[in-house]
Amino acid sequence: MPELPEVEVIRRQIYKIVKNRTIKKIEIMDSRVIKGITPAEFKKQLVGKKITELSRRAKYLIFNLSSGKILLVHLGMAGTLIIGDKGQKYNKYALGFEGGKVIYYCDSRMFGKTRILDNLEMLQNIGPEPLGGGLGREGFFNMLRKHKVKIKILLLNQAFLAGLGNIYACEALYYAGIHPKRKSDKITRRESDKLLEGIKKILSQSVKQGGSSVDRYVNASGEKGRMQNHLKVYGREGLPCERCGGKVKKINLGQRGTYYCPRCQK
Ligand SMILES: [Zn+2]
Repeated sequence: MPELPEVEVIRRQIYKIVKNRTIKKIEIMDSRVIKGITPAEFKKQLVGKKITELSRRAKYLIFNLSSGKILLVHLGMAGTLIIGDKGQKYNKYALGFEGGKVIYYCDSRMFGKTRILDNLEMLQNIGPEPLGGGLGREGFFNMLRKHKVKIKILLLNQAFLAGLGNIYACEALYYAGIHPKRKSDKITRRESDKLLEGIKKILSQSVKQGGSSVDRYVNASGEKGRMQNHLKVYGREGLPCERCGGKVKKINLGQRGTYYCPRCQK
């Protein structure tokens, strides 16, 4: 599933292609990922409009249109945007820009959602962004203390923190030496600082590495990311922990496979 780094990688790749460009043509191959609007209305709202800005909030891509409306894209479990002239096997729609560049929305699992909105009210309950300067150590510690749930489950809650998914939640807890089942309000200030540091470091590293391709994820150039080669616990059940030599364990927590080192994470 694309998490924050994968969405950010795609945003950076397509930014120059879409910023201040006018959409000339829309082609829809499968309208099921387009929500709340008919295909005809979707085309009408986009053709002839310029994209004035492209930003990201949590796992959402936000395209501001010259009409004042917003094209909001969530990649779901397996969606991506591909720059090119053919896209991929699972093309759902294509945005054709002035100058001839085309961006395809591709999705093999149909959990992605594309909408046209008047405003971003839909995103108002999302928690703070972990990257950038907005989230500090004291603020994060206070956030943890307000909840009494297992830390791994809390980290995946988008209302608590934006953009973190299963892979990076496992990795950040390993970094901080915190057991995934620990209750969030029992985490010490020192552990909380280390956890926030891990979240920021691992997400930034992943953006630099082009994201993780543990499944089918490819970036906007159709290439796999490299972060999967740097993961310490995720997907490594039974393999040695590089810190202590013990074996990485997998448990189920909140219906998600959770990887950790029983010796290093207490
Ligand atoms: Zn270990």
